[in-house]
Amino acid sequence: MTLFQVGTAAATSGETGYGELTIGYGMDGREVRIPIAVVNGAKPGPTFLIAGGLHGIEIVTIEICRRLVKEALDPALLRGTVILAPQLNPWAYLASSRFTPQDAQDMNRVFPGTAGSTVSYRAARVITRELLDRADYVIDCHSCNPPSLHFTIVGEEGTPTVRAKSIAMAKAFGYPVVNANTAYAGTLSGHCMSQGKPTITPEFVFSRRLEPTSVATGVTGMCNVLKHLEMLPGAAEPVTVPGAFSEVLTYVSLGASRGGICHLTRQCGERVSKGEPVAVLRDFWGAELEQILAPRDGIIIAYPLQGNQAAGTGDKVAYLAYAGE
Ligand SMILES: [Zn+2]
Repeated sequence: MTLFQVGTAAATSGETGYGELTIGYGMDGREVRIPIAVVNGAKPGPTFLIAGGLHGIEIVTIEICRRLVKEALDPALLRGTVILAPQLNPWAYLASSRFTPQDAQDMNRVFPGTAGSTVSYRAARVITRELLDRADYVIDCHSCNPPSLHFTIVGEEGTPTVRAKSIAMAKAFGYPVVNANTAYAGTLSGHCMSQGKPTITPEFVFSRRLEPTSVATGVTGMCNVLKHLEMLPGAAEPVTVPGAFSEVLTYVSLGASRGGICHLTRQCGERVSKGEPVAVLRDFWGAELEQILAPRDGIIIAYPLQGNQAAGTGDKVAYLAYAGE
């Protein structure tokens, strides 16, 4: 019997264990802890990490992981170990905030973290050491508010082999797959891929809510990836989501320059031609301030507005997926 332990979550072969991992301390002097479950398979194999909640409002991973561990993952059938860490940023979660309030950081821009900086960097360093360094494969879950498709992002970091394995994982999950055309520094997925670990980022729909389609397809998709890696027996189950496409596309983020209230002119999943407006930004009484134009032919996959349906200079308005690099 081999013991696998993360923080206080410990499980021997063929068991599931629950516990917590301390990733910092609060102003009250108490530990700040994240929930962890460890499903230790009866047979030896790779270590697979399911992570979520770097952005504190993206909570659907909590319900996906609860269902996985309570209903879907039988350690007797599992080859290898699954670590479930659905809520990685408790400071942001407790504030119902995307960002860490204490240092105003986006925790998905600070990996692999540093010891001598602010709380997000320090927590990322603990997460890197205790979770990422131990994983062979990683799924880092995020979400967009609607209107958005369900889709999976694969980063451009790492070797061609790591990217190919990541794309295969993303296809196995079952959502439409897009490559990122821009690498943001400090993402969890980028760090993992640069360390040789195949990694994917499913984008579920709805922040702040446990959206049923995301939960159901998220559970199926995770199991499909585990079957693809031969960590679970059986064949993949189909995942059906609106607006799906089968070719692997690349996506680009279209941002506001002039700013204003966003009037969306397209549906997600709709094909648009180069030069057509995908959104119009207006002032309070409707005067047009800016058109957000498609820079090439493609498919609108999300309007990733992070707060109200409005955008200022540099804010994301739309994701356009297109064929090619
Ligand atoms: Zn996110």
